[in-house]
Amino acid sequence: MILDLQPQLDGKVFRCPEGVALTRGPMGLGLIVTRPFRAGEVIYRNESFTVPDTDHSYRVLVEIDGSVEEVRVTRTQSVKYGDGREFDIPGTFINHACNPTSMFFDLVADSGDEFYEQVALVDLAPGDPITIDYTLHDWDCDGHVFTCLCGSSECYGLVAGFKGLPRHVQDTMLHRIKGETARMWAALH
Ligand SMILES: [Zn+2]
Repeated sequence: MILDLQPQLDGKVFRCPEGVALTRGPMGLGLIVTRPFRAGEVIYRNESFTVPDTDHSYRVLVEIDGSVEEVRVTRTQSVKYGDGREFDIPGTFINHACNPTSMFFDLVADSGDEFYEQVALVDLAPGDPITIDYTLHDWDCDGHVFTCLCGSSECYGLVAGFKGLPRHVQDTMLHRIKGETARMWAALH
């Protein structure tokens, strides 16, 4: 486990993988694609940071709309994992949608290194947002409840993690849950 990540982040500029950009829109920061992706295609591969489960906040230099800016990654932008928390750049900037354009798959390389693949669920055109369904991997969003404005006909409305979804909705998603959501569900049922 990495105990003090900040010194490793200082002075390093995180740029998005090819085909992906971090942009600022009316809803705040978010990831978009900059080239077409087909449904099922891997948009990018990346590794996560594991940090202690404390009320951390990290300063990270990222490229936003072509300019390098310092942003803070806070507790609500990470996900509990065992006794730690996980986040990654740029994955931490992916916004939620109830009918998302992508999902991630955790994988292990031959070397034993863990990584994930962000995979398109629909055909994407340049400028389209990369979104995920937070509830699939985030049990309670650490109390960070928000009203979703994704506009989907299946919108949850209030997003408070998987825990906050009605049981009949949870039941339709159990084969897709992962991470914190899967562990908490298994522990409680
Ligand atoms: Zn929604």
